[in-house]
Amino acid sequence: MTDQNLLNEISRRRTFAIISHPDAGKTTITEKLLLLGSAIQVAGSVKGKRGPHATSDWMSLEQERGISVTSSVMQFPYRDRVVNLLDTPGHEDFSEDTYRTLTAVDSALMVIDGAKGVEDRTIKLMNVCRLRDTPIIGFVNKLDRDIRDPIDLLDEIEAVLGIEAAPVNWPIGMGGFLKGVYNLYTDTLHLFQPGSGSSLPPDERIQGLESDEAKALLGEDYDDFCDEIELVRGASHVFDLEAFLSGKMTPVFFGTALGNFGVREMLDNFVEWAPQPLPRPTQSRQVDATESPFSGFVFKIQANMDPKHRDRIAFLRICSGRYEKGMKIRHTRIGKDVKIADAVTFKAGERVLVEQALSGDIIGLHNHGTIQIGDTFTTGEELQFTGIPHFAPELFRLIRLKDPMKMKALQKGLQQLSEEGSTQVFSPLSSTDLIVGAVGQLQFDVVAYRLRDEYKVEAIYEPVNIYTARWIDAEDPKKLEEFRKKAADNLSEDGGGFLTYLAPTRVNLTLMQERWPDILFRETREH
Ligand code: GDP
Repeated sequence: MTDQNLLNEISRRRTFAIISHPDAGKTTITEKLLLLGSAIQVAGSVKGKRGPHATSDWMSLEQERGISVTSSVMQFPYRDRVVNLLDTPGHEDFSEDTYRTLTAVDSALMVIDGAKGVEDRTIKLMNVCRLRDTPIIGFVNKLDRDIRDPIDLLDEIEAVLGIEAAPVNWPIGMGGFLKGVYNLYTDTLHLFQPGSGSSLPPDERIQGLESDEAKALLGEDYDDFCDEIELVRGASHVFDLEAFLSGKMTPVFFGTALGNFGVREMLDNFVEWAPQPLPRPTQSRQVDATESPFSGFVFKIQANMDPKHRDRIAFLRICSGRYEKGMKIRHTRIGKDVKIADAVTFKAGERVLVEQALSGDIIGLHNHGTIQIGDTFTTGEELQFTGIPHFAPELFRLIRLKDPMKMKALQKGLQQLSEEGSTQVFSPLSSTDLIVGAVGQLQFDVVAYRLRDEYKVEAIYEPVNIYTARWIDAEDPKKLEEFRKKAADNLSEDGGGFLTYLAPTRVNLTLMQERWPDILFRETREH
């Protein structure tokens, strides 16, 4: 591949993830995106929460629950783009992986249930996107139902998420009276055709709100609709590409994923507006996606995909250059060159051996325990990518061993599991307890399962009175020392030896922050 071809190929890449609250329609819209990308022939064959996908039922825990514990990557072509969609575990499988996946994308699609508006999980995921000002495109779903007043919804997005909302299209009716959507920019009416959810939808349109066809379609509602559009144009933000790219504005589309309506329009614009692979920060400098040496970082480690081999797959986001089968790359943290002949890639959820992959793509490296989250691989200079943090857990359990002789095995297991990002471990300064922390409930089950299965450790996981964790830092070492003494009862070291404040309640955390203005209480910690 010539350099020019490489640049062209990279500029076609769009790497994104979906952020949404459970049940807003992420799975459904994913199916339609894959259908539009022709990656699957009939919508409905994406792994569901209730029936595990053939390639992901690698763990009996997963099978028992009928959910997918870990996220996968889907790549599909769309028009002249190559789209990488990183799955963000939702429901019970919500975990730190969900957050970390967002550090590996260049943009995100936010799906909102139109009847419910902005929900809790969406707020959390938006906060993670905000760490990097990730561009967000909005899709208000379930227009085939009676959704809330669209103007209210836009107001709520702005107020709750702190981002400007620019409607791109506007619903013509809703629920049983849904006629279509009107694109405010192209002056086109797209007509809703019920019953085309599982096939490529027809694209019936009327050009011009002023046209006779539009008047005929809207009938006696025509004048009201024109007034509404005038109001919307006057009261809402106009889409601005720069504001979108800097994470300050989200364009908003209305549609129904189930009805496969409005999804194509959104995707058409999305692949145009969303950024190509972006530069990434390292400890020493920014790395541009178009640089020719290969570089990338690990954002997720997935264990036991193949129970026969107990292998772990490290998901690596390529940040520059190109991976080619058999190439030698440097694992910078341990200073070792490794020849990679069996990296895997993910096409519509299937694992296949990868011959070649580029900036923006995700490859899976076989990991035999040497790779950790946040690790950098490169063929060029020594680099260490930043911006792949630990996130403050919100759930905690105290571990009690059933057999005290197993302490060594427990510590080894927990260390390995925390390096993989399955859990975080905290050792209180004032006791010999071990506390595990997680972002989602299922992480505990995974930890318990794997400690038993792989490390032969039986333990009891007791609830413990902790609201959240904050990593502690201060510019003034004296203040830090003072804090360390005064707050010792609530301080721990995490798995990496970093000082952490485990707050029993939200009120306590606020009080401590007020009382100790010189102490930094961080919600994330870099690897
Ligand atoms: P997820 O939890 O975000 O992945 O949500 P799903 O895609 O599984 O959708 C949750 C439920 O909402 C399912 O019963 C879907 O069939 C339904 N659903 C998704 N999109 C729509 C839509 O556009 N209209 C309606 N009426 N239901 C939808």
